[in-house]
Amino acid sequence: MTSQTVEDHSRTPYQLPFPADALAEIVVPQAIPEDERAWVPQADNVWFRPLCLNRSQGYWVNLLRVRKSGVLSRHRHPQAVHGFVLKGRWRYLEHDWVAETGAYVFEAPGETHTLVVPEDVDEMITLFQVNGVMCYVDPWGEVTGYEDVFTKIDLCRKHYSAVGLGAEFVDEFIR
Ligand code: FE
Repeated sequence: MTSQTVEDHSRTPYQLPFPADALAEIVVPQAIPEDERAWVPQADNVWFRPLCLNRSQGYWVNLLRVRKSGVLSRHRHPQAVHGFVLKGRWRYLEHDWVAETGAYVFEAPGETHTLVVPEDVDEMITLFQVNGVMCYVDPWGEVTGYEDVFTKIDLCRKHYSAVGLGAEFVDEFIR
């Protein structure tokens, strides 16, 4: 009987270097931050917290926080959006469904919507991946402004600089 040992490699880490040009991972221990300064004001009662600002592929992943009476202005998405509701409840003026804690939402290219939080909800927090650009529009679709990963980065730099975290605080989220 041979005593050949078959080694079990199921828990052996990958042994080779990663590609030399691969970007570093991002790990955000407190995605929902204890430090209030990490939230970047966007409108009255609306803030975002960057997690991944992907300038190399033109998308961003952030937490959106909206408190009572906050409205995320009407905007059109030429590309898909993915959302996961972490806290609270919200809806779009353009749809009859309500997104509640635990819900996943796929927003198809071509969506135009206005996000509102019901009166009885103190706060909602939702993780969104937004691809490309969002175009702010009037009720008839005329574009009044836009946001993309670069305007997001600019907003972060200005805010983090103003609150004392330093403009470079945003760098850890950029790839
Ligand atoms: Fe949207």
